[in-house]
Amino acid sequence: MTLSNLTADYRARDAAHHIHPFSDMKSLNAEGSRVIVRGEGSWIYDSDGNRILDGMAGLWCVNIGHGRKEIADAIQRQMAEISYYNTFFKTTHPPAVALAETLARLTPTQFNHVFFVNSGSEANDTVIRMVRHYWATLGKPRKTVIVARWNAYHGSTMGGGSLGGMKPIHSQGGLPIPDIHHIAQPYWFGEGGDMTPDEFGVAAARALETAIDEIGEDRIGAFIAEPIQGAGGVIIPPATYWPEIARILKDREILLVADEVITGFGRTGNWFGSETFGIEADLMPIAKGLSSGYLPIGGVMVSDKVAEVLIGPGGEFNHGFTYSAHPVAAAAALENLRIIEDDRLVERVRDDIGPYLQERWRALGEHPLVGEARMTGLMGALELVPDKPSRKSAFPDTGKVGTIARDFSFRNGLVMRAVRDSLILSPPFTLSHEEADYLVATARKTLDDTLAEVK
Ligand code: PLP
Repeated sequence: MTLSNLTADYRARDAAHHIHPFSDMKSLNAEGSRVIVRGEGSWIYDSDGNRILDGMAGLWCVNIGHGRKEIADAIQRQMAEISYYNTFFKTTHPPAVALAETLARLTPTQFNHVFFVNSGSEANDTVIRMVRHYWATLGKPRKTVIVARWNAYHGSTMGGGSLGGMKPIHSQGGLPIPDIHHIAQPYWFGEGGDMTPDEFGVAAARALETAIDEIGEDRIGAFIAEPIQGAGGVIIPPATYWPEIARILKDREILLVADEVITGFGRTGNWFGSETFGIEADLMPIAKGLSSGYLPIGGVMVSDKVAEVLIGPGGEFNHGFTYSAHPVAAAAALENLRIIEDDRLVERVRDDIGPYLQERWRALGEHPLVGEARMTGLMGALELVPDKPSRKSAFPDTGKVGTIARDFSFRNGLVMRAVRDSLILSPPFTLSHEEADYLVATARKTLDDTLAEVK
């Protein structure tokens, strides 16, 4: 079979039987899906033989790059030892023990316990149950409300989708569930009006104070937020935002949940985004970079303050998944964390490839189509605008120009993702300087192509 016949064959069979997540199936069936057949380092290869730089590290997860043999070997070793056993009913196994211990060492000091799940969505559903169980155990069963933010992403299950503030998700399936309250996001570029970023950071944080005043501290169990909103468009909060949140929550009986599903394990140039922004959370959902996506695994890191209640008076937590701490996934995660530590990849993001790419990425801000080029660690966004000097102008049909640019990018050999009319980026930590140069040159060509098409 020729390569193009092979691609046509995959596409036809895929269209016949596969309902894709977050995909417009009508246009997918018309155009055919992209078939990715191989990955190596920062690169993926499609079924037509094209080599494409994976600027999104899959879905913000393949932080150590594709195709690491050490992970395949670790998986194979564990498979031969015991491929599955559960952790229900007071049972454990060596990979679960080692991974829990390693996470206690790597995460901020208040975290010494983990509850294992299979995904970020499950981690956040677990958070909802854990927060409510915690307060009920302390004799405060009315503290069921969780405050979250518009345009946040916390997954797409009933709980995760409800915590998230994405209208297209809420519009299907009767979300959000009761007792989830959304407040403003710290998105200065889009919503900051005439305020400086610092003024806006304080104002956005004060939406939490207003919510507490309106709803009552006796009703609110937790506030949840991503240190940097990822799927919302790499929204890096102004420097004043997180300190103001800390001030508002100080001495309040409200738990702080830092969703580190994207920002965990080095993405922002520290092990956790909480360290980058000085956040002291009580619960911390993790997934993605925990295994660099080699196998599905996630968790909720539980602070000593919460663990004391859950483990002591809380009694049995009637919650868990068949595959909580799956031994093979745990072995993959352990090997992934070993690679991140031994190859000093967090330091690499902080001191080497991070600053190298940031400087070149920010220079794209000079392009006539770009209103802002921002990046922290290795998470970045380019805001596309029709009227360069003005932050307030927007394209009429929101999302159209972003999608055109995203498609040009792919054709030019770089995966970027479109969010509204912005392009976002989250490459592997192993990206070389040469690959970073290619990435920026391809992003620039993509901007030129897009400008020529839309002007
Ligand atoms: N939380 C955040 C911050 C995420 O970015 C995501 C996924 O992108 C999730 C939760 C959900 O994770 P999963 O897709 O593994 O359910």
